[in-house]
Amino acid sequence: MARRKIIAGNWKMNMTPSQAVALVEELKPLVATEDADVVFCVPAIDIVPVVEACKGSNIEVGAENMYFEEKGAYTGEIAPDMLVDAGVKYVILGHSERREYFGETDKDINKKMHKAFEHGLTPIMCCGESLEQRELGVTMDFIRQQVKIGFSGITADQAKEAVIAYEPIWAIGTGKTATTEQAQEVCADIRACIAEIYDEATAAAIRIQYGGSVNPATAPDLFVQADIDGGLVGGASLKADFGKIVNWK
Ligand code: PEP
Repeated sequence: MARRKIIAGNWKMNMTPSQAVALVEELKPLVATEDADVVFCVPAIDIVPVVEACKGSNIEVGAENMYFEEKGAYTGEIAPDMLVDAGVKYVILGHSERREYFGETDKDINKKMHKAFEHGLTPIMCCGESLEQRELGVTMDFIRQQVKIGFSGITADQAKEAVIAYEPIWAIGTGKTATTEQAQEVCADIRACIAEIYDEATAAAIRIQYGGSVNPATAPDLFVQADIDGGLVGGASLKADFGKIVNWK
């Protein structure tokens, strides 16, 4: 069975609540499609108004991060059931910016993966190599470790529902998109890694996105690749371009 494409925007630390609602209103007609899942991953403070603004549309709302404890003395963190109660369906876990600036480790991300599934949230787990790792020829060694630790203890049935975003760090926010060959090669290797951890059925079901400076010009060639099931889009998700990416066909 063909995998359904999933195209998610990652707003990062952009948009005040009122700006967020205005952006949803602008994008809503542009991202209307029945051909793909469309997700807006937004800053925590924007979640409640964005969920409200997306009602009646095809847009699902995601968070950009989440903590792995249920509740308690974790000042500044957001608990899984807070997201669920607010109407969130997806959560980005382990974005490279969180790994780099906030010291998130593969083990932290694994704990978050477990919590997301416990609460019925779909994780979008990010992985990807630095330029140095690519030049040293260790791209897949590094990504396999991220995937293996990230999915440790996650069942095959859970993994089938998960989304992995392959985002080469050197392509995020730089305007440098990986070539379609580079992106397809790594996404195929990630799928092979999932087949090794689980089985072919799980590998065939899991959705793998490419992320890194996706724009309306690069999206069609990327999304047509056999192992690329859509995109995680940063900069271009904040403008009308996102509509063109969603309707890439
Ligand atoms: C991202 O933030 O996940 C991302 C891919 O950003 P950009 O599209 O701006 O490179």
